[in-house]
Amino acid sequence: MQGIEFIKQMLLKSLSSIKPKLSEMVDEFSRQQLTTSPFSIQLNTNNFFLLRKIAVKNTNKKAKIQQLKQLVLQCLKRTERNKTFNKQRQTVQIVGAGCGEIELLTLKAVQVITQADVIVYDNLVCAEILQLAATHCRLIYMGKRFAQKSSTQDEINQSLYQLAITGVKVVRLKGGDPNVFGRGSEEALFLAKRGVKSEFIAGITAALGCAASSGIPLTHRKVARSVTFVTGQRCNDQREQSVIDEWQGLLSANSTLAFYMGKEKALEIATRLMLAGADGRLPVAFITNGARQKQTISFSRVDQMAQAALNIKQAGPTLIIVGEVVTIGAELEHCLAFCSQSVAANEGVYG
Ligand code: SAH
Repeated sequence: MQGIEFIKQMLLKSLSSIKPKLSEMVDEFSRQQLTTSPFSIQLNTNNFFLLRKIAVKNTNKKAKIQQLKQLVLQCLKRTERNKTFNKQRQTVQIVGAGCGEIELLTLKAVQVITQADVIVYDNLVCAEILQLAATHCRLIYMGKRFAQKSSTQDEINQSLYQLAITGVKVVRLKGGDPNVFGRGSEEALFLAKRGVKSEFIAGITAALGCAASSGIPLTHRKVARSVTFVTGQRCNDQREQSVIDEWQGLLSANSTLAFYMGKEKALEIATRLMLAGADGRLPVAFITNGARQKQTISFSRVDQMAQAALNIKQAGPTLIIVGEVVTIGAELEHCLAFCSQSVAANEGVYG
């Protein structure tokens, strides 16, 4: 029960046993300025004691109403304080939705998504995942799209904070993993600095999801002994030595490079790699809509990757894998095709 009706019931309950006539007084009280109050109130034993005192006191009706009003206002204030305190104790869940279809979601992510009161999601979250939300759950889109007008990070941070302090269960849902080019930590810091706790729930990041779905390993004995996740966003035309050194660092240690947000920067990536001494024939794979039903893969090499990127017409996120591991993936694909042929041939013989 909410609002003035609740207050009225509480007062009637506590006062009726003392002086039946007081119910009339409560009625009058409730007609007064608190009638629009949206709050329910919490009366503690001390308040009941005070209520009794007011009720039995030998003062006139008007004074009693005044005292009652003050008491209820006190209760309302305390209720509000408690509410705020409880609200601040809600933990915002910053959740990775995985990079692909709903199957890549973790069980923990499913649990918090289904329990959320509000989900603030980005553009890489697949629509089916949002259908897991409860019917009462508010879905708020707040994402960033390459070269498109979208919410600023500050707007997103502010919204998360404003929602969190209302005391509802907030889930911030992001494609892939929240902490791999996902700004999850920026949001967590913003909230923490304002007294709101958060928790990360890992998701399958694009490099891992795409590697699996395209059959390209990220490491392979004697071929690649490390893997580096690189953002293509910050590639520009700088040719200073420090930048070249940085790219040489990426190429050393037989590392596989997984470029996020790199399709539109393929020319700059190729230029940087070549300046750093990469062999132009180093294999490259573009995986678009990785781990999704409309996944496409195109193969190229570093010296031709700019044109290869332009040839990709399908819309959707693209991950670029650069390294000798791409050849291992191609070899595996070839062997798998051979397996299928053998199975078909055997079926012909034994079927
Ligand atoms: N937090 C995300 C990455 C966000 S940055 C994660 O962990 O996966 C966005 C970039 O991720 C895209 O530009 C693209 O390079 C990559 N990406 C995300 N999902 C992808 C997918 N399904 N297929 C290919 N690349 C993807």
